[in-house]
Amino acid sequence: MYDVIIIGSGPAGLTAATYTSRAKLKTLVVAGAMWGGQLMLTTEVENFPGFKEGILGPDLMDNMWKQAERFGAELVFDDATAVDFSSKPFKVTVGSKVYEGKSVIVAPGASARWLGLESETRLRGRGVSVCATCDAAFFKDKKAVVVGGGDSAIEEALALSKFVREVKVIHRRDKLRASKILQERAFKDPKVGFIWNSSVQEILGKDRVEGIRLRKVDSNEEFELTCDAVFIAIGHKPNTEIFKDQIELDEKGYIIAKDETKTSVEGVFAAGDVEDYRYRQAVTAAGTGCKVALDAQKYLEGA
Ligand code: NAP
Repeated sequence: MYDVIIIGSGPAGLTAATYTSRAKLKTLVVAGAMWGGQLMLTTEVENFPGFKEGILGPDLMDNMWKQAERFGAELVFDDATAVDFSSKPFKVTVGSKVYEGKSVIVAPGASARWLGLESETRLRGRGVSVCATCDAAFFKDKKAVVVGGGDSAIEEALALSKFVREVKVIHRRDKLRASKILQERAFKDPKVGFIWNSSVQEILGKDRVEGIRLRKVDSNEEFELTCDAVFIAIGHKPNTEIFKDQIELDEKGYIIAKDETKTSVEGVFAAGDVEDYRYRQAVTAAGTGCKVALDAQKYLEGA
C-alpha cells in the first residue's frame, strides 16, 4: 500500500515525487515506458531556473528522477493501463500488476500533435520544434515557419518574431481559429506573414531544416520555401484516455482541476499539462507538482 501513487514522470510528476517522498510518504511513480515527458524530446533548455548555461532536456529529467529517488520514491518504467478510483484504496493497474494507494496524483501530461511526416521526426530538435518559448532564441535573425491556425500557432509566431528575421504562418484554411486579439497582433507585426490554404508535404534538409515543401489545398500545386526552423503548433492532446470514466474531464479531455489541484474524486489530484493547456512550461508544471504534493500530504494528514 502506497501513501501516494503518481502517474507520470514529467516535471510535474517528478517534482511531486521529490516532495512526497521527502515528506516520508511512501511514494510510487508510474513513470511510463517513455518516461520523462516532453522534455525528453527537446535539446537545450535555457529557461528552467537554476541552470545558467542551460541544460539538455533529457539531462534535466534524469536529474529530477535521481532527486526523487534519493528520498526513496520508487519508480516503475511502464505505462498505467487502467485506474479504479471508485473505492478506496485507489487502484492503478500497470500491465499484470495492480498497485494500491491512499491517494493518487495524476500527472501524465499532454502530447503535442505532430503532422506525422517522416522528415518531421528525423529533424526534430534539428530545426523542428513544438515550443517557441523553448527554442525561438536559437533562431536569431533566421527564417522560421509556424504550422497551424489556432491560438498556439499565433502565440508561437509572435514569440518567434522577437528573435527571427521573418516568420510565416502556414495554415490549411483561409481563416484563423485564433482569438481576435491575437490575430490583430499578428497582422500588425511586420515580421509575421501568412501562407493560406497550404499543407506541409515535407520538411527539407539532411541534418538540419533547410526548407519546406507545401501544397496548395485547392489547386494541388506544390512549392518550396527556404527556412531554418519549423514550429508545429497544431494542438495538444491530454494523455487522459484511461481516466475518462473515472474523473471529470472537459470537452477536450483535460482534467478539470478545482481549488488548484483537486479532481472530482476526493484523494485524487492532478498536476501539470494534463490540467493546464495555457502555460505548458516545464517550470509551471514543476510548480504544480509542488502544490499537488503539499495538497496530497494535507489530505493524508486529514487536514
Ligand atoms: P487548436 O485551437 O485546436 O488549433 C489547432 C490548429 O491547428 C487549427 O488551426 C487547425 O486547423 C490546425 N491543425 C490541426 N491539425 C492539423 C494538421 N494535421 N495539419 C495542419 N493544421 C492542423 O489548438 P491550440 O492552438 O493549441 O489551442 C488549444 C486550446 O488552448 C484552445 O482552446 C486555445 O484557445 C487554448 N490556448 C489559449 C491560449 C491563450 O489564451 N493565450 C494560448 C494557446 C492555446 P483548422 O483551423 O483548420 O482546424
